[in-house]
Amino acid sequence: MPELPDVQVYKEYVDATALHQPIADLQVSNHADVLAEVAESTLRGRLKGRSLEASRRHGKHLFLGLEDDGWLRLHFGMTGGLKYYARESEAPQHARLRIDFDNGYHLAYRSVRKLGEVAWVEDVDEFVAAHGLGPDPLDPALDFSRFRDALTDRRGTIKGALMNQEVLAGIGNVYSDEMLLSAGIHPAAKVGGLNEQALERLYRAMLAVLRQAIEARVDPDRFPPSFILPNRQEGAACPRCGGRLRRARVSGRVAYYCPHDQPRE
Ligand SMILES: [Zn+2]
Repeated sequence: MPELPDVQVYKEYVDATALHQPIADLQVSNHADVLAEVAESTLRGRLKGRSLEASRRHGKHLFLGLEDDGWLRLHFGMTGGLKYYARESEAPQHARLRIDFDNGYHLAYRSVRKLGEVAWVEDVDEFVAAHGLGPDPLDPALDFSRFRDALTDRRGTIKGALMNQEVLAGIGNVYSDEMLLSAGIHPAAKVGGLNEQALERLYRAMLAVLRQAIEARVDPDRFPPSFILPNRQEGAACPRCGGRLRRARVSGRVAYYCPHDQPRE
């Protein structure tokens, strides 16, 4: 499932390809599955003849903005992505939305299963507030004390808190495991039981893991050797100690962790 680093890579991809191009038209397929509270005709009316001038990301949401006039919001669900292409032979499968540009190129939004979402928002900050999304982990304003405040008074496991979009927006199952291994914290540790040092390690691990994943363009072949993502399975070698990774159900999700590096307190 696309998490913060994946969506950041999509953002940078759009920045490098589809911004500032006049839009000729758009096509939506499987409307009911993908459009959230906006009609295709409304989207067309908003976008046709205009161009995408800006992009923003908050957590797992990508916003593509017209100049001073609203934002197309994309959420990628379980499996999805974007492709900018010219030739029909390059068109991706499962394109739910295709924006056609005057220059002959297209930007396709793919969502393989139904959980992706295309919508229109007038104001990104209002959307974030109205949906109770927590701060974005890569927001420079999220220093350690704000990170600690976001976790204060949270009950349950640290893995559950990291994945809770109301606490921090953008982290999911895969990257929470990376951060917890990097910080040496057991995924089922109770948030309230973590001391200041552990929280600081986790804060630094969160930033490092997200930045490294983005730098690697979320390509598992390019991830640092400390990552478990390319070999995320029970019994695989821990990249830190060489021991065996274990799997466990934590806060409703399957977690992978190293019992040696992430001891249960
Ligand atoms: Zn280990």
